[in-house]
Amino acid sequence: MTAGGGERSNVAELPSLDEVELDDRFVRSLPMDDERRPGSRQVLGVVGSFVDPAPVRAPWLVAHSREMLERLEISAAALDSADFAQVFSGNRKLAGSRPWAACYGGHQFGAWAGQLGDGRAHTLGERVTSSGERWELQLKGSGPTPYSRGADGRAVMRSSVREFLCSEAMHHLGVPTTRALSLVGTGEQVVRDMFYDGNPRPEPGAVVCRVAPTFLRLGNFQVFAARREWAVQRQLLDHTIRHWFPELLQDASDPGPATYVEWFGEVVRRTARLMVEWMRVGFVHGVMNTDNLSILGLTIDYGPYGWLEDFDWSWTPNTTDAATRRYAYGAQPQVAAWNLAQLGGALIEQVGETAPLDEALRGYGAVYEEASREMMAAKLGLPGLEGEDDDALVDEMFEVLGQVETDMTIFFRRLTDLPLAEEASDAERLAAIEPALYSPTELRGAARERAARWLTAYADRARRHDPQSRRRRMARANPKYVLRNYLAQLAIDEAEKGDGAKVMELLEVLRRPYDEQPEREAQYAAKRPEWARHRPGCSMLSCSS
Ligand code: AMP
Ligand code: MG
Repeated sequence: MTAGGGERSNVAELPSLDEVELDDRFVRSLPMDDERRPGSRQVLGVVGSFVDPAPVRAPWLVAHSREMLERLEISAAALDSADFAQVFSGNRKLAGSRPWAACYGGHQFGAWAGQLGDGRAHTLGERVTSSGERWELQLKGSGPTPYSRGADGRAVMRSSVREFLCSEAMHHLGVPTTRALSLVGTGEQVVRDMFYDGNPRPEPGAVVCRVAPTFLRLGNFQVFAARREWAVQRQLLDHTIRHWFPELLQDASDPGPATYVEWFGEVVRRTARLMVEWMRVGFVHGVMNTDNLSILGLTIDYGPYGWLEDFDWSWTPNTTDAATRRYAYGAQPQVAAWNLAQLGGALIEQVGETAPLDEALRGYGAVYEEASREMMAAKLGLPGLEGEDDDALVDEMFEVLGQVETDMTIFFRRLTDLPLAEEASDAERLAAIEPALYSPTELRGAARERAARWLTAYADRARRHDPQSRRRRMARANPKYVLRNYLAQLAIDEAEKGDGAKVMELLEVLRRPYDEQPEREAQYAAKRPEWARHRPGCSMLSCSS
């Protein structure tokens, strides 16, 4: 669950940027749009368009991920040259790079939205490492494409800091995710109306370099179904299966209807497991449209996401979603299943019948249920959940968590240190979780008794197991450090003033989220402070980015 393994290499031998070469397998293998006319348009019958990033005025390196640098086998010395910011803002091309933007569609907030596509992202190419790993490098905020739908193709610093940090934080938490190599300020201003309230203002612009095996989304496959472009859809399917799901092709050399069903089933399972991981760490994506769900089961497109502070199933960080709460914390598993159903629907023509796809989709519930029970057991430090009594224990825990404002991350972490001995008093047990309460005095009367009763029941249950293995299990399932919304905002404030040190410092903490790091606790593991409760960016976010 923690990172680190296999990411070390001999820095001295790594190539500098001049020697870094990119491959173009994806665009070489599949139909692409060659038209270079500027402006937004409908692009038919292709998987994407060749388009170059638009240059920026004065790029400067705000932050980078050293793990990603090593993973991509790029010398750390490259960071010291001005070229780095030039390359990862899109001003200068790496050898072999043929930048392009993907065509995709999607259901946004439950309705089919037609063609969307990379409106402000450019894939530079694929970096193939000495061990044969292949990573797609993609800039976000790098200028308009045919898919910009009239928007400017840019991204602001605040949303870029958030995407950069969360990509790496999720990786270190052990949650499947796209990664981030770098964050570059553009030296240009971008005008945004942050809360869509008629107050546009200029903000500093930025470009993130994201990294993943592929950024394909459910919507990349849906767009062809909406247009009945079956031949291209099939080419994309075959390419995807051959390169990212080769295990599905063991005896058949060419994918066919049965392979498509198996592939769909695998996407379903991966997505179900991803939802369990989000629920485990208290992550709320905020915009779970079908164009924002990865075909590999990775967390993708960090926009108005947020981290649960006080535990609340109905919490959403996205102000655009505040009325319907379609993408609230507790709704995520259901919404993912709905999204997968849309993907299934887009595959019917290739499969020839509906039943096997329906059957594969039904696998979602079982996989989610099992992984979720395992996850809850791990969070409680139990080897497994057994029978109705354990189910009742978990249900009651959620009731207790909902009684008064309780910080989810701190609660689970403190639970590890709960006095388990039979003779421990209610007061001693309650004291263990008190640091998780936003207003400790609110927990009184019947609510206090209920909390104490649950803590006793949990202690009784936990005593049946070896205390050491319980602690170990809990320490791996319950992070101490997550990217609290207000911590990201504090780093953003500095980056907007031209200083990336706070972003790097925060990343440093988030590289070891399960470790105690006692010297960082006061600053980085504390409850959200009162001032952050209503400050934009700390408790509410809009899609404006
Ligand atoms: P989202 O739901 O934020 O992931 O984005 C939905 C669509 O809007 C995607 O196709 C994006 O590429 C596009 N988009 C968002 N912001 C911009 C922008 N500033 N310029 C061009 N396209 C954008
Ligand atoms: Mg998106």
